[in-house]
Amino acid sequence: MQLDLKKLFESGDQPLNFQYDLDLTDLEQWGEKPFGTPVALKGRVVNRAGIVTLTYSADVAYSTKCARCLEPIQDAMHMEFTHTVVRQLNQESDDDYIVVPNGLLDMDELATDDISLELPIRVVCSEDCKGLCPVCGVNLNKETCDCEVPTWTPGHRNPFEDLL
Ligand SMILES: [Zn+2]
Ligand SMILES: [Zn+2]
Repeated sequence: MQLDLKKLFESGDQPLNFQYDLDLTDLEQWGEKPFGTPVALKGRVVNRAGIVTLTYSADVAYSTKCARCLEPIQDAMHMEFTHTVVRQLNQESDDDYIVVPNGLLDMDELATDDISLELPIRVVCSEDCKGLCPVCGVNLNKETCDCEVPTWTPGHRNPFEDLL
């Protein structure tokens, strides 16, 4: 969705409210496409004394696998974002600002970027998830096994670090 902020920049007494569903089914994360349900976006843009501020929330539902034990996970995250929107930058170094020279803000693109940055690098079913046995592959949350836990030389990289 494009938000037309031209009026808001000019007169600015009426806030612009918006609410819609963003389709992120093609967005890849955690090695798959976990966003089967559209993301609910809701927000507003206000002009206070010439400062145009966008605030919005995103409810992101996802279904993926635990990074440790590979069990399915279905969950949702509530995210909130705030940006200052300007028509031109005074200082080139300030990239916290969203620049919309023509007054049109591509909300889909902005929200996709914001959400991607906010997502965790990986998700686990629980912080105490024991993961899979690196030798026999059983889910150690559900079963135990008699495998020798492999050892490694101190000071060298643990080859099983990624699984821990
Ligand atoms: Zn797990
Ligand atoms: Zn084992």
